[in-house]
Amino acid sequence: MTDFQDHQIRDRIKIEYMYTMGGQSKFFIELMKNKKLLGTKCKKCGKTWMPPRINCSDCYEPADWIELKQTGTIEVSTIVWYTTSAFIKAVPYGIGFIKLDGAETALFQGIFSENLVPSKIKKGKRVKAVFNKEREGKMTDFFFVPEDEYENWISKPEFEGGM
Ligand SMILES: [Zn+2]
Repeated sequence: MTDFQDHQIRDRIKIEYMYTMGGQSKFFIELMKNKKLLGTKCKKCGKTWMPPRINCSDCYEPADWIELKQTGTIEVSTIVWYTTSAFIKAVPYGIGFIKLDGAETALFQGIFSENLVPSKIKKGKRVKAVFNKEREGKMTDFFFVPEDEYENWISKPEFEGGM
């Protein structure tokens, strides 16, 4: 016979820390300061990486920084209903892998829509990057929206278009 009863106590942990983006720092600095989306291009095989890789993951040769377009195509997506406290106010929202024009790999990023239904963010749909006016050099500084909603999103006071 089992009469185990789990006793749980809710508590909170606060940890302040710093971390470095290392070789990827240029991506985050250009995102924050200039609203640019930088990828990298392998010096040997020419593959274009986004998210950027300092060294090509196919042939291990160094890659050069290149600026990519801020438009792309959804490769795969889903709608988020359960998330962490950091994103709870945005629920429901889309996330997905987006292949920026000119890149050969896809970036995992948020996809927001004013009318979020699966057909709005399905594979093959065109999206464009929208940036927070207040940027910190983090992935949450930008997100993607369906191309036909772009003008509406950048007219909101907290957001703006890219370069
Ligand atoms: Zn390569």
